[in-house]
Amino acid sequence: MTTVNDATRERVDALRADINEYNYQYYVADAPSVPDAEYDRLMQELRELEAAHPELQSADSPTQKVGGAVLDAFEQVAHEVPMLSLDNAFDADSLLAFEKRLTDRLKDTSQLTFSCEPKLDGLAVSILYENGKLVRAATRGDGQVGENITQNVKTIGNVPLSLRGDDLPARIEVRGEVFMSKAGFEKLNDNQRKAGAKVFANPRNAAAGSLRQLDSRITAKRPLMFYAYSLGVVKPDSYSLPAQHSERLALLRQWGVPLCPDIDTAQGGKGCLAYYHRILERRDGLPYDIDGVVFKVDSIEKQQQLGFVARAPRWAIAHKFPAQEEITRLLDVEFQV
Ligand code: NAD
Repeated sequence: MTTVNDATRERVDALRADINEYNYQYYVADAPSVPDAEYDRLMQELRELEAAHPELQSADSPTQKVGGAVLDAFEQVAHEVPMLSLDNAFDADSLLAFEKRLTDRLKDTSQLTFSCEPKLDGLAVSILYENGKLVRAATRGDGQVGENITQNVKTIGNVPLSLRGDDLPARIEVRGEVFMSKAGFEKLNDNQRKAGAKVFANPRNAAAGSLRQLDSRITAKRPLMFYAYSLGVVKPDSYSLPAQHSERLALLRQWGVPLCPDIDTAQGGKGCLAYYHRILERRDGLPYDIDGVVFKVDSIEKQQQLGFVARAPRWAIAHKFPAQEEITRLLDVEFQV
């Protein structure tokens, strides 16, 4: 047991209060009040304090929760399979430490294959298809309960209303990100300016505000897109899916579901780092905003062995890119030297 002094206890309380307020602004009001890098730093400080002082841990802490509250204006949808968050790595060492944790836990030193995916900066949505027809779409919400946004998702141009193929499961949830391309975002803000309406801070903000409209005619006018990156419920249980995550994504593509064209696979942590650098180099030229890349253990059997912690799977990690404002600061320093 560590001894916790008053100052530490007060710092933990203050961090929790600030982060809860920022979560509300970001997830509920769609109006972030601090840069993501600042938010990530506060969250990291809180995680470290809780790890150093387990007696301060609490199920109420924002470190244990996913996302924000669900807006009352929408009907609620209980997720049969929770929609979780992702753990973060901010540098190469923590990515390699993630790989080591996996091999230790699996008690298997052979090299792991990872699915490597750009971390699109939009919002997570789960789309339910029954007998191939889109019947419901929901936001992540707090991970357990989301908002029913079916009518709005149906207006997104690249979301299929029916899946293609003969051998479809009776029920399948397709999960992915709704986002706005950089070009779509610029055009929307131009139109907003001309109309004397509110301009959006960034594409994520514009996508969230556009998707959570009560009038789907407004959503229909917004340049939203969807890329899938995982599955939720699949029924019947006997339905046979491929054994690798990357093959499941390829199957979704065959059914007509859009995937990010820059998804790849890599061998081991070193292969993941090479992918990270390839995408970071292309970041400015990509048509969509990303705040990092996501690595997922490709074998579904290994994913199941690894399981979950409170708010995130053990088998995946988001390797975040440096924040743009921090890059500017770094470049400034290098320039002065
Ligand atoms: P997260 O964004 O770190 O990771 C989970 C989410 O990543 C998923 O829900 C999904 O929406 C998204 N994602 C994109 N591509 C994906 C892929 N290929 N596979 C899986 N998921 C993918 O988790 P979060 O809890 O939504 O958000 C936390 C982040 O949001 C913070 O790190 C911070 O940067 C930002 N945030 C900022 C503020 C603020 O006030 N500025 C407040 C809250 C959160």
